[in-house]
Amino acid sequence: MDNMSFYDELAELLFPGIDKTPEYYEELYPARSLPEGARVTRFAPSPTGYLHIGGLFGALVDVLTAKVSGGISYLRIEDTDKKREIDDGVSAITNGMKAFGVEFDEGVTGFGTEKGAYGPYTQSRRAEIYQTVAKSLVKQGLAYPCFCTADELTALREKQEAEGAAITGYFGKYAKCRNLGFDEIKANLAAGKPWVLRFRSDGSEDKRITFEDMIRGKIEMPENITDEVLLKSDGIPTYHFAHVCDDHFMRTTHVIRGEEWISSVPKHIALFKACGFRVPKYAHTPQVMKFDDETGDKRKLSKRKDPEAAVSYFVVEGFPKESLIEYLLTIISSGFEDWRRANPGLPAMDYPFNLKKMSSSGCLFDLVKLNDVSKNVISVMNAQTVYERVTEWAKEYDGDFYKVLTADPERSKAILNIDRENPKPRKDIAKWSEVRDYISYFFNEYYERDYTLPENISKADARAIIEKYSAAFSLADDKDAWFGRIKDMCASLGFTPNVKEFKQNPGLYKGHVGDVSTVIRIALTSRRNTPDLYSIMQLLGEDEIKARLADALERI
Ligand code: GLU
Repeated sequence: MDNMSFYDELAELLFPGIDKTPEYYEELYPARSLPEGARVTRFAPSPTGYLHIGGLFGALVDVLTAKVSGGISYLRIEDTDKKREIDDGVSAITNGMKAFGVEFDEGVTGFGTEKGAYGPYTQSRRAEIYQTVAKSLVKQGLAYPCFCTADELTALREKQEAEGAAITGYFGKYAKCRNLGFDEIKANLAAGKPWVLRFRSDGSEDKRITFEDMIRGKIEMPENITDEVLLKSDGIPTYHFAHVCDDHFMRTTHVIRGEEWISSVPKHIALFKACGFRVPKYAHTPQVMKFDDETGDKRKLSKRKDPEAAVSYFVVEGFPKESLIEYLLTIISSGFEDWRRANPGLPAMDYPFNLKKMSSSGCLFDLVKLNDVSKNVISVMNAQTVYERVTEWAKEYDGDFYKVLTADPERSKAILNIDRENPKPRKDIAKWSEVRDYISYFFNEYYERDYTLPENISKADARAIIEKYSAAFSLADDKDAWFGRIKDMCASLGFTPNVKEFKQNPGLYKGHVGDVSTVIRIALTSRRNTPDLYSIMQLLGEDEIKARLADALERI
């Protein structure tokens, strides 16, 4: 048997059911008709039922890279690793993306659903494609079956380690199944021996390859020499082989993925070339890091230790989607904050993102900074939006608060509108789960009285202030008149209406008008610090004000 017919026959023996050729798929998935320079990117997670913040980060980079170039981004589910999967691990990913408004042009849209002409976008549904490419590699003598058992492979590695080999693995003289004869293979198959399909590498130990990483620049590495597994014994492809087939037939131009894959690039380039496919551009994104609370060291965000590693955490906490995206963009791209200052009103996803300007060292994720960003984001929302978003969140995560808020929507909106919709809005809400506490004193079902006074104010003075104010206040006042009344009370109580005067002669007074209004504030809300007290009083109403002042007078 000459070599050619040997490989042909071997291909038939290994893949009797495969009647297609790679050309068939080349036609089925033609080059995309996109404008010059348009980039095709993909987010390719495994369905583990958990969406890591690093995944959302990566997905944003994919979507923006495609968007700014007029290209296409898609979501592919990489479910070839049965060990890591759970039943419906897909929804956690698609729901997480939806919750934060990250939308792909194509690909998987939910559990069992997808859109686009380059699918199926789930690897477990692409078996025939991998087998077809595999069969073609066998026909060309570029792949072969290997019957080595796990024990044999372990023994091989131990032998290589004992010999002090620079590289361990299945290659060259160690690759004992490389040269099996046809009859031997046939007999092994007939005996039902499990086999994997291996790549026949022609790499050499002293050659190096270089490639241009879009984020890290030129990278040089030793060429791949190992006979990588392409198909596992159950016929399922390895990540390496699936990556090559899928990114080729889905016509990906830019493979953007985590930096943990850099070391695999030589394998991938060798495989693309062996398959006769064009090598895509690569961009390896940095890890999402944080400062460890205890040690202070920078480390990877961990699924086990850090609740904020899960995208679902931000949903449950009620961070607006705009806040998380806005914050992620500040850590993804150093130019984002300047762009944001110049374009305060534009949606974050309009940012002209450039992969090349991304930092290659770890991106630092800091919850405190996210909170600050989120306070800014929420501060410029109008009351109607805040009301809608809080109620939407509460409906899901705080049913009781939902009922309270929606009992009188107009009043709730008015409460949320205090110190909002003006040029200098307050920035004190970072997430929806904080709102209940933030406005709790408006609702008697939540209001907890605490009349603790600042140290500089005596109980007797506080009582005198409250007593006087109970008789003096009028809801008909406009804001100036309202404050005028508080000022007018000061002198007879031993306080001064003039803060400056107090600072010049502190010995002459018990305090100033600020102290007087603090007492009124505490009596009405049990807080020293609130938004505009005038507006609060308008919303509490006469009866409630009177009742609260009376209660405070009695209990202070
Ligand atoms: N499925 C791979 C992972 O979960 C994705 C790597 C890639 O994007 O190519 O890490």
